[in-house]
Amino acid sequence: MKSLTVSDADFLALSGLKHFCFCRRRWALVHIEQQWQENALTVSGHLMHERVHDENFTESRGSVLLSRGMPVRSQKLRITGACDLVELHRDENGIAICGRSGTWRVFPVEYKHGEPDERGADAMQLCAQALCLEEMLAVEIPEGAIYYGKIHRRVSVAFRAELRQQTIQKIEEMHRLFARGCTPKAKWTKACKSCSLVEVCQPLLTKRVSASVYVQRMLEEDGS
Ligand code: SF4
Repeated sequence: MKSLTVSDADFLALSGLKHFCFCRRRWALVHIEQQWQENALTVSGHLMHERVHDENFTESRGSVLLSRGMPVRSQKLRITGACDLVELHRDENGIAICGRSGTWRVFPVEYKHGEPDERGADAMQLCAQALCLEEMLAVEIPEGAIYYGKIHRRVSVAFRAELRQQTIQKIEEMHRLFARGCTPKAKWTKACKSCSLVEVCQPLLTKRVSASVYVQRMLEEDGS
């Protein structure tokens, strides 16, 4: 992995981590081939993020400062993006913040419209944001949280060594695939049913599966 100063073209969107964990082909279609299809899931996800993001917005709630849509990047990992919300809590072990007295603990929060994911992709995305913030602010961030719209609550995420390692490995894989510039072949899985790129991807056509087999598989997945 490069460690020298790099150009913007070398940076990948950290939001792509979620796509990458969901399906590498999906990530490649979006980030290498620039394909994008909205579906109900992505549209509701965007609406939630639009409500959350406002780059110039900082407010205080009691002893907590809230910064929404904070742009972040890591020179080391060559990723860039934005945090939905960064909370700054008064903490004697925290860092100084320009224009504010005292010291503050940094706590990133990501908003998701759905429910907690089994693959850990959301935790990795949040961890990637924390890694950027740590590099930018020269601070250690031990934890953050993800708010899930479907369950109406936050889930804590501890940035343990294992999660950090997994996140860095995934980012390195993304860079390797991006450098090769090739999109992995389609492989039909259960995830394809909720994928907004299914029409572009055509996972079953790639395998030359007949329409009747496709319908049969969809029915089986539904438990019909
Ligand atoms: S349709 Fe399936 S194989 Fe194709 S991009 Fe989506 S999840 Fe991946």
